[in-house]
Amino acid sequence: MPELVLIDAGGTIASVPDDSGVLIGGSGAARLRDVLAAPLRDGVEERQAYAGLSEDMGFADAMQVARMMDAAASEGAAGVVVTHGTDTMEDVAFLTELFHGGAAPILFTGAQRPASLPGCDGPANLHDAVLVARDPSARGIGTAIVFGGRILPARSARKLDSSGPEAFGPHGAAIGRVDDHGVRLTAMPRRAPTFALADPEPRVEIAALGLGSSAALVDALVGDGVRGLVIEGFGRGNVPSQIVPAIERAKAAGVLVGIATHCVEGGTAPAYRSGARLAALGAVGAEDLSARKLRLLFAVALSGGRSAEEAERLVREWLAS
Ligand code: ASP
Repeated sequence: MPELVLIDAGGTIASVPDDSGVLIGGSGAARLRDVLAAPLRDGVEERQAYAGLSEDMGFADAMQVARMMDAAASEGAAGVVVTHGTDTMEDVAFLTELFHGGAAPILFTGAQRPASLPGCDGPANLHDAVLVARDPSARGIGTAIVFGGRILPARSARKLDSSGPEAFGPHGAAIGRVDDHGVRLTAMPRRAPTFALADPEPRVEIAALGLGSSAALVDALVGDGVRGLVIEGFGRGNVPSQIVPAIERAKAAGVLVGIATHCVEGGTAPAYRSGARLAALGAVGAEDLSARKLRLLFAVALSGGRSAEEAERLVREWLAS
């Protein structure tokens, strides 16, 4: 039985630039275990889930990571570290969290700067993630992102910087730090009930709104047969009032509808007229979840052909827990 499993899922940390300097992702095994210093790498077994860039991943690739995480936890690994592209790390980490109820910490990490550049952050992030995975205080934290010296729970972590080494935030959501004095966990994250491993329903989309957005996108997605739809609105989950009838049409078509906010902190509440009208129509408020995470919660709740009503019940239960 390996002590720790290192799941290699591609991204910048495993990438090489092409002749023009463009990062094109890795191809074979990344051999990231070799990057770890000698005592830290003992007992670490590296397994490959995916080799490319994370913007190209789909549900099948994400489920490959989730299944490998599940296998490692069932084998009795004390912790799992997943190296992953940063672009969709928050999605795959959250998806994993939806399936993982055990005590073994699942830690996602990666890099903003490739190994070909001085000051590349991959080795430091990987070192930190392995330290957290080995730390007894991290048992029970669920799935987290360890990046730039911070430990952020999968539920709240978002990529907030596209190129700097502190890619993930919000910093106020951090549950701990890793530095030259080791791991300091300052809070235990809230953990919600888990779902049985199953392929998510792929027909769930996000409609992001801007100033004066029309109902065209919502109607087009409903016409296209989506089973779930997350609206990314403004502020507390508000939308331009002309969108509300389109949400009513979506509900009438049997679509599971949710309302999230573009804001990084504060969450949704039916505090203003449009948000209150959406709540009255049965749109599920994302609360603290980003639109991308509510979409994944919908996709998992709708898996296995579950009805929108049953999925909505599961989503509301999950959010209330
Ligand atoms: N585009 C890259 C990816 O998500 C970025 C990264 O890994 O940091 O795979």
